[in-house]
Amino acid sequence: MKTIITGDRPTGRLHLGHYFGSVQNRVKMQYDYDTYILIADVQALTDNFENPQKVRENVHELALDYLAAGIDPTHSHIYIQSCIPEVAELTVYFSNLVTVSRLYRNPTTKHEVGQKTELFGSDGESITYGFLGYPVSQAADITALDGDYVPVGEDQVPHIEQTREIVRKFNTIYGETFKEPEAVLSETPRIKGLDGNDKMGKSLGNAIYLADTEEEVSKKVMSAVTDPSKIKKDDPANPDICMVYYYHKLLNNPNLDTICKECKAGSRGCVACKKELIKVMMEFLKPIQERRKYYEEHPEEVERILQEGTASARERTKEVMKRVRKNMKLDYFE
Ligand code: ATP
Ligand code: MG
Repeated sequence: MKTIITGDRPTGRLHLGHYFGSVQNRVKMQYDYDTYILIADVQALTDNFENPQKVRENVHELALDYLAAGIDPTHSHIYIQSCIPEVAELTVYFSNLVTVSRLYRNPTTKHEVGQKTELFGSDGESITYGFLGYPVSQAADITALDGDYVPVGEDQVPHIEQTREIVRKFNTIYGETFKEPEAVLSETPRIKGLDGNDKMGKSLGNAIYLADTEEEVSKKVMSAVTDPSKIKKDDPANPDICMVYYYHKLLNNPNLDTICKECKAGSRGCVACKKELIKVMMEFLKPIQERRKYYEEHPEEVERILQEGTASARERTKEVMKRVRKNMKLDYFE
């Protein structure tokens, strides 16, 4: 079986963007691959180092969201990054194989630094060594488990390319040690926000969380952006520029053709259309929220799943690190 490794930073709850952008894909793949799902707390600390409590709390929230979304612990290993110290060790070895200028050129890092002006200054002059280097530690996460495939969103592609470069360099210098992992892009690359933003995101304030109540969902859907040319309830409109229609489509509403026709003919009001979307969305979220409730009520089970997942990841990493130390001539007492 080939191995896939993916994960998220524990900086908040999972939203529909995460679900359709990556989690759904992992749920499908877990039956055909040896699946490792990483809760990247070390990486989360690179820009939340002043707020360890936030990271700590979200490790638990993320585990609950994964299990709720259908990650099956009998098929996937969910593990905590900081509990695999060998990955930190490998990051140090890898850091010799990457230039600082190459890290600065990474478009995803650049973009993120530009968004974090409070932390890193208006032109990124206060960027930390840790943040600049997180793609290196990501390379260590993947290779420490001998990962074959990394299912990701498009923003992660530069990081996987960086990983492949490190692997090639490592193998050239120290001998064949790692395989080059491949990025697998999900079919739905980027989920838009109901507010018309081309991305749903936590910090954009437009996220619908998997754990949102009907009240929260209703509030967000009712304020969704529709065709601005439609003023009156019976004006015809263009569903292709309507975020409500976009979500009906995303959630596979069986009524989609009718919605499209009625919207174009002016026989469908936006309020009714939004109410229908709330219903469809809550139906979609229902099984997810039921599973979440089960695990919220059984914290000892979640703890056991995390412990077992982490033990399994560490076991595997230790084997890989024996190879690394041998090839790097660091196997002093073996
Ligand atoms: P923030 O606003 O703090 O950056 P976020 O909502 O973008 O939060 P992240 O934790 O940055 O969430 O996302 C983790 C990963 O989830 C991203 O690398 C990306 O691949 C995927 N992802 C996030 N938002 C979306 C989205 N709207 N559509 C598809 N994938 C997404
Ligand atoms: Mg983001």
